[in-house]
Amino acid sequence: NDYCNPQGQIRDTCCDYQSIETIQSDVFQKIQNLVHSKFFRYYRADLWKECPFWNEEALCTNRDCSVATIDENVLPVDWRKDALSAIQLSPKGSLFQPFKQCTYKDQDFCLVDDQIDSDSVVYIDLTENPERFTGYAGPSSGRVWKAIYEENCFDIVHQMTEGCETCNNIMNLGSSSQASNPLKAAAAKQSRLKKPDSPFAHVPLDKAELHQFLEDLAEEADGGNDSNDEVCLEKRVYYRLISGLHSSISIHICHEWFDRESGVWGPNLDCFVNRIGSHPERLQNVYFTYALLLRAVNKIGPYLDKYEYQTGSDQEDEKTRFMVQDFIKSTDSCPSTFDENLMFKGPEAQALKTEFKDHFRNVSKIMDCVGCEKCRLWGKLQTVGLGTALKVLFSYEDKSLDPVKNPDLFERGEIVALFNTFNRFSESVNAIKIFRAMYADQMTPK
Ligand code: FAD
Repeated sequence: NDYCNPQGQIRDTCCDYQSIETIQSDVFQKIQNLVHSKFFRYYRADLWKECPFWNEEALCTNRDCSVATIDENVLPVDWRKDALSAIQLSPKGSLFQPFKQCTYKDQDFCLVDDQIDSDSVVYIDLTENPERFTGYAGPSSGRVWKAIYEENCFDIVHQMTEGCETCNNIMNLGSSSQASNPLKAAAAKQSRLKKPDSPFAHVPLDKAELHQFLEDLAEEADGGNDSNDEVCLEKRVYYRLISGLHSSISIHICHEWFDRESGVWGPNLDCFVNRIGSHPERLQNVYFTYALLLRAVNKIGPYLDKYEYQTGSDQEDEKTRFMVQDFIKSTDSCPSTFDENLMFKGPEAQALKTEFKDHFRNVSKIMDCVGCEKCRLWGKLQTVGLGTALKVLFSYEDKSLDPVKNPDLFERGEIVALFNTFNRFSESVNAIKIFRAMYADQMTPK
């Protein structure tokens, strides 16, 4: 069993595993340096928003679950709440409050925490709060993953192809008449997820059921229905991103594992093999997501060339610009890892894109249900990071990505999240290489 040594083409990308691994080695140190720089290490998030879907009371109280916040006075004036609130004040007067009424722009694929006057909005030094093993597990985390994967059911795809039928059935959305009537099924799904007092909130999670649900989704997304390839590409991409994120989080947990018996942190090979290595499609989805993110950071390069970093020092701004451009240049060698032009084609393209966005925005909301502060922070950040990558790829043509002609296309938080998410996936690919070496070592007769 060649657990962690995948070969060949990565499905739905223009790349094979080997070229991703080569480019990952080439750019790893550069992205690591970037996320430690002043501009990229500080992140603003609302960590205590109420879960909108069910009563999430089981907040993890382990020390490793908590997040160390920082005093905003250490930040450049332009990034502080006061400065940002002032920007949000409209010249049209207090009755006109676009930011209060509309939590996202039409181009956005996710919700950014933009209520900056809320007391629960905090600043975090990401380098001080690494994503790693926290001990958060059980029904709470299982329920969140299940809700996230349930967003994989696309009603438009269903209407055109019946391709989502399996999904509706395994979600037990009701009678078969619902399953064969996509609108009824969709309505049932929406009401279940949206009503805080819905029965869904109290359904005990059966682990075997959850496992089966996810296995079926994986099979379907991995080409269970090849005749629907054309239509289902978007749905597959959606699934691969979510599963890639899940794999990447699991890899960090296994790579920075806390052994409770010895009290030592370190890589746990069994954890990796069980959760990822023995599931080729989960491994593939990490490389897939890396390829998509790589294409997005490459595409946003020209925008960042003229971007105002506002770190509080001209020298630091120039240093950041240089580091970003140097990093982007080294991603040029493999520009077409992912071809976004293949997606959202055909008569239903606009409706499908709208639905894709709605699902992804729902995932942002589901992240407020994660019952562990640090997991919530990284879950939210990486959802914003993936959402920003999708926005770069699908909301703008290359020529629009110019901050002089089109300022304010991206908030600082979106750029920080995109690069930190890319770094998390870079660390995952790096960890796969480490686990591969550990596995080979274990297999070598001594
Ligand atoms: P889980 O990872 O909970 O998976 C549940 C089921 O999903 C599995 O049984 C399997 O059927 C399926 N599955 C697993 N991986 C994949 C995949 N890649 N693709 C498709 N299906 C899959 N814990 C920490 O220690 N540190 C963290 O930083 C952290 N962050 C988290 C962030 C979020 C958003 C969430 C929801 C949870 C987080 N957790 C974190 C918890 C962690 O993800 C696991 O839920 C927990 O470790 C229990 O793992 P498990 O083995 O029971 O399976």
